[in-house]
Amino acid sequence: MVKEALRNVGIVAHIDAGKTTVTERILFYTGVERRMGEVHTGNTVMDWMEEERERGITITAAATRCPWKSHLIQLIDTPGHVDFTAEVSRSLRVLDGAVVVICAVAGIQAQTETVLRQARENQVPWLAFINKLDRQGGDFNVALDSIKKRIATQLAVTQLPIGAGSEFAGIIDLVAMKVLSWDEESKGSKIKSSAIPDDYLASAQAARADLCALIAEHNEGLLEAFIEHDDLENKELLKGLRNSTLAGELVPVLCGSALRFYGVQPLLDAIVDFLPAPEDCSPVVGHVPGKPNEVVEVNALPDQLFSALVFKLAHDQHGGLGYLRIYSGQLNEGDSLINSRTGKKLRVHQILHMHADHREQVKSATVGEIVALQGLKDTVTGDTLHAQGLDVAFEPIEFDEPVIRQTIEPNNLADRDKLDHAMDMLVREDPTLRVLVDQETGQSVIAGMGELHLEVARHRLERDFRVEVRAGRPLVAYRETVRGAASASAKLERPFGDGRQVVSVELAVQASSKAKPSISIEQDFAAELGGQLRQAISHEAQSLLLGGGEFGYPLAQLSISLKSVEYSPMTDEPSVEMLLGAASKALDFVLRDNTQLLEPLMGLKVEVPEEYSAGVLGDLSARGAIVENIEVVDGKRFVEASSPLDGLFSYSTKLRSMTKGHGVFSLTPRGYIEVSAQRFDEIIDGGA
Ligand code: GDP
Repeated sequence: MVKEALRNVGIVAHIDAGKTTVTERILFYTGVERRMGEVHTGNTVMDWMEEERERGITITAAATRCPWKSHLIQLIDTPGHVDFTAEVSRSLRVLDGAVVVICAVAGIQAQTETVLRQARENQVPWLAFINKLDRQGGDFNVALDSIKKRIATQLAVTQLPIGAGSEFAGIIDLVAMKVLSWDEESKGSKIKSSAIPDDYLASAQAARADLCALIAEHNEGLLEAFIEHDDLENKELLKGLRNSTLAGELVPVLCGSALRFYGVQPLLDAIVDFLPAPEDCSPVVGHVPGKPNEVVEVNALPDQLFSALVFKLAHDQHGGLGYLRIYSGQLNEGDSLINSRTGKKLRVHQILHMHADHREQVKSATVGEIVALQGLKDTVTGDTLHAQGLDVAFEPIEFDEPVIRQTIEPNNLADRDKLDHAMDMLVREDPTLRVLVDQETGQSVIAGMGELHLEVARHRLERDFRVEVRAGRPLVAYRETVRGAASASAKLERPFGDGRQVVSVELAVQASSKAKPSISIEQDFAAELGGQLRQAISHEAQSLLLGGGEFGYPLAQLSISLKSVEYSPMTDEPSVEMLLGAASKALDFVLRDNTQLLEPLMGLKVEVPEEYSAGVLGDLSARGAIVENIEVVDGKRFVEASSPLDGLFSYSTKLRSMTKGHGVFSLTPRGYIEVSAQRFDEIIDGGA
């Protein structure tokens, strides 16, 4: 395959905007699926959850391959719910462009806005598909306005609808200057092209003139031709719009009704025409493994040495799979690769293309492709795999820290091992899930990004791993840190041969602004430690941090520096176990009377029709949220607020009942804030 012919795109949409319906149509028209799926369920969260799972796209395939007009579109899954931030972060890392599905009735919504902001930070070009024009109240112009107002961007309208709601009858293609329409009988496979009716001609001509003017304005080379002819040739128009879309200056807008089969094939054409091929993207920057300051640039070319990022791990009935996005070179069966984090070699046994519900074994794959490898041992999400000779480690994918936790126990005690194994698998797949042990009760605790996230995890334990579980109440996942800075040393002794081995460790601990705690070994002293011991410390120390502080919560926002280690007899290096034992004791000394409890702070966006806003604002204030901004657009209030997570339990249910289902919201973690002394006592006494 020619690499220019590849498109890696994600479909981004708020729940219910029509992402699943659009995807089903794409799979059908590109011949990937012979049957077209339909969404028959309502719009509750549970329905949505089941639905994503049943369709098998999120869980079993991170990317689906769809051939379209001598191109290959790899559709990368991006979930519609914020609880699944890991999925959003990882897909934004590997997609090159995005299709944003917007409901013509609701306009752009909170979740889409959040993901789009992230996409823009990652400089991902995108195009908008205004869906549901057949619905009562569907209005193309209102949807356009909502994008302009919510996302400051310049829109390049390439299509106009004919009619709306029950009168919706076709799409005017402003490039071909034709009307396109579809029929139910062929399930939209046949596209009818006809002349623009007289009563739409003037508005279509004006819209085309606007489009050409906009493109000429952004492409200097086209300005002269435009001034001379007041128009652009279609080839130039498409090329100019492609350039400006890739540069992030313009966003092409298309429209349709996925449910009634309108507009999906032109959307596929637009993906090919306007979104980037891997080679259009800037070179990917990594660094030399172990040397973060030594930058390595990787060019998206097939004749380079191989490099790839592992962005997802999944387990199904066939075993474990790792998904890679190839950033340079070629991959062949039998190749030997290196994992830059562990330095270990691995052999490529089977390269798989994943389709919506089946897998195909292939002999090789090339730059830009997304493939799955079976049996990747010692690999975690975010690892870089590379060929010998190209020492590169890409930036690991940043994931948020879990904010909510609950105890989880097998219904049947005999299932304990099975549960532990299943939870290990889940945690390997999803870096925002953690499994901890409650130090007081010995119970297993699962921590994640929200109530729905934990609910899905429990569901998977029961459905995929067949372990019946009992879950406790969801609670806030507090963290502990140190106040200011402090240091301490501790000594550990144990019988050793005929005498005793003594290890003493000195630690310096300091509060830091980064959520993830870090452990380092003081430079002067690092050289004195044996290499193996040094590696083992960095590796094992993580458990020390996760294991918890004074009150059993994991540590956060602190950095620990190992200043010195003394041991006797001097001839025998201490075991890692002893060293960590002494370090743990020293850490206890530091934290004693010096612990600050932290709680997750969440950014909250709520969108409600005016008539419900007083109640919603009153409720937010009762929950202790701080309202930061309110905007009124088209009879809706957009509220931005922040709140400790503690105040937001069951918010989804409450908002739904307060607004008769018309309110929507999205949450994003914003790090941690200190818990006040009074709340600290309540939490500790309450045993949360
Ligand atoms: P998702 O949550 O974004 O994946 O949205 P779905 O594809 O599941 O669609 C949500 C609901 O909207 C379903 O009931 C669909 O049948 C319906 N829907 C999707 N697209 C359209 C459309 O173009 N017109 C209308 N009227 N309904 C649609």
